[in-house]
Amino acid sequence: MKAFVDIHDVTHVYSGAEDGAPAVEGMTIRVHEGEFAAIVGPSGCGKSTVMKLATGLQFPTRGSVVVDGREVSAPVKLAGMAFQNPVMLPWRTTLQNLLLPLEIVQPHRSRLRKHKAEYVARAESLLAQVGLKGQGSKYPWQLSGGMQQRASLCRALIHEPKLLMLDEPFGALDAFTREELWCIIRDLHAQNKFTVVLVTHDLREAVFLADRVFCMSARPGRIIAEREIDLPRPRDLEITYTPQFIDIVHELRGHIADARAAA
Ligand code: ADP
Repeated sequence: MKAFVDIHDVTHVYSGAEDGAPAVEGMTIRVHEGEFAAIVGPSGCGKSTVMKLATGLQFPTRGSVVVDGREVSAPVKLAGMAFQNPVMLPWRTTLQNLLLPLEIVQPHRSRLRKHKAEYVARAESLLAQVGLKGQGSKYPWQLSGGMQQRASLCRALIHEPKLLMLDEPFGALDAFTREELWCIIRDLHAQNKFTVVLVTHDLREAVFLADRVFCMSARPGRIIAEREIDLPRPRDLEITYTPQFIDIVHELRGHIADARAAA
């Protein structure tokens, strides 16, 4: 099957790296269209570097990065991104924050003024999908951390990206809110069928959400294991207490422990 995200034998050295050592080395990651992939690994192993390479914010020193059949040579427009810190503009309402990417990314930028009602309807529909119906007129500082993170997911999806990149998006939230967000992203993925790459250090999160998990070694990051998660879908939180789920988490934990020990 053709890969939607195809990172092939990539080594990346940051131009500012004092020691000249690569952040990631000989890395190959293939994610199919519509698949939910998770990348897990110890802190500093290069997970965010993978995100930057896949979205065209960095270009590999060696190897190739192909997304949707094209070699990545500029920031990838078909990607939406959400990070640990939602960074909403405090002087804009939630709805205005959602519309922000459309003011920047073409072809939406040219269409926005004329088709504003259509885009607002899309933003409101997304807010409803994440349980924030009718909250668009509130300012970000009037929302809880979990609500802001939901809004930032909507903002990442406003231009209907084919690829959603999530960099530790739930890391700053308490355990209950985080699990609520897992269910929201699970449902968004099931409804919208985009491809997802999630970077996380939470193994339970990776196993609950993903179809495929890639484990990275400590720096320089390499892929040390790739595990298909064959748990049935739709998954609800109860699955996280089953022996089958716990066994997979243990198995992945073993890979990460080995990687840390070898570092
Ligand atoms: P992770 O997301 O797994 O914590 P990163 O991808 O952020 O890891 O970083 C991998 C390595 O690359 C780290 O050692 C980090 O210090 C280094 N690094 C990240 N960004 C830069 C940069 N812009 N310039 C130089 N080194 C960097």
